[in-house]
Amino acid sequence: MSTNPERIKCLIIGSGPAGYTAAIYAARADLKPVLYTGMEPGGQLTTTTEVDNFPGYPNGVDGPSMMVDLQKQAERFGTDVRMGMATAVSFSEEEGGLHKVTIDGNKQLEAESVIISTGASARYLNLPSEQRLRGGGVSACAVCDGFFYKGQEVAIVGGGDTAAEEATYLANICKKVTMLVRKDYMRASKAMQHRVKNTANLVVKYNTEVEEVLGDTVVEGIRMVNNQTGEKEEIKVTGLFIAIGHKPNTDIFKGQLEMDATGYLITKGKSTKTSKPGVFAAGDVQDKEYRQAVTAAGTGCMAALDAERYLQTAGVVAVSVEE
Ligand code: NDP
Repeated sequence: MSTNPERIKCLIIGSGPAGYTAAIYAARADLKPVLYTGMEPGGQLTTTTEVDNFPGYPNGVDGPSMMVDLQKQAERFGTDVRMGMATAVSFSEEEGGLHKVTIDGNKQLEAESVIISTGASARYLNLPSEQRLRGGGVSACAVCDGFFYKGQEVAIVGGGDTAAEEATYLANICKKVTMLVRKDYMRASKAMQHRVKNTANLVVKYNTEVEEVLGDTVVEGIRMVNNQTGEKEEIKVTGLFIAIGHKPNTDIFKGQLEMDATGYLITKGKSTKTSKPGVFAAGDVQDKEYRQAVTAAGTGCMAALDAERYLQTAGVVAVSVEE
């Protein structure tokens, strides 16, 4: 363990669109942000191919390139971007108190303000064939990738609101959508179920699970199994969407910050303030509704502005070491 903690004015944890946008704003406000990238630098967008729905890219942009651009933009204003993972935190209860954060199990930081943008991870079925074909027709985001399957036949797994919403979204674009629900009912709200039922090119198969995703380098079909009868069936599809929920990356904040039953951080009103003064949350880690790169970027901007206002008024215990 290092003995002398490093003092940081604005610590940003996580490097998706929320984290980098927070960094751009915080750096321009002279908060000298330090951003730790986490295990997956660039976040979920680095696992996407083309991003067509981020304003300002008329011809689209591939996810990893966009994240490199965001990093460069944050660095241009002086953000200190570092590889590393926050492994433990102890947030102060006091207005103006210092927040202790451990990086990679051994480096100690003391931060005057913290912006959490650790994101959420899509859950997958964890079938070997599904994992192999991620990026080759298996996707966890219909809004991001649905367009590539225009006029084609696809399948979607899940029976919650996300699956129902994404299935109807896909049905607008695709020729046919087969929705696989593992129980004999859907968990989605009645309104969403109604929409699903009233969509002509959307077929729901209950008690049905994916046994294998077929295809060598791209998805060519799926083998399904009825979990009541054991009956198997193969269908041809070019895309398989997994919509079985997301897991917010908040394990290290348990017991430190208020979160909902599924682990999403709770922010106050329209702000990015968490339950501890000087700790803010932006992006998917606090948003299970919209989960878009552009909305994450928006809340990243808000978090930096909230941190700036907080640092101006909170009377942080001591000025940062460089000053
Ligand atoms: P949910 O947890 O609500 O639903 C997950 C679905 O995936 C369930 O049908 C579940 O089945 C199924 N599932 C889980 N694991 C597997 C598996 N291994 N194999 C097959 N199926 C599986 O997640 P959502 O993302 O749908 O929603 C998250 C939250 O966000 C909810 O509170 C939802 O209401 C909300 N939301 C609201 C929206 C809106 O209001 N417009 C839009 C989107 C989300 P089972 O039921 O059998 O467990």
